[in-house]
Amino acid sequence: MVYTDPYTPERSYYECRDCGYREATDSLGACPECGGRTQNLAVPRD
Ligand SMILES: [Zn+2]
Repeated sequence: MVYTDPYTPERSYYECRDCGYREATDSLGACPECGGRTQNLAVPRD
């Protein structure tokens, strides 16, 4: 598996706050692994 930089600005990455599952998608509403809440990692924090 190729590890992709999670902060690539061209894609929206979401990470589950419950189990840590990560997915690169534009429309992930809930974690497919546990159904938990996901957070968009592409949001700038600076
Ligand atoms: Zn999860």
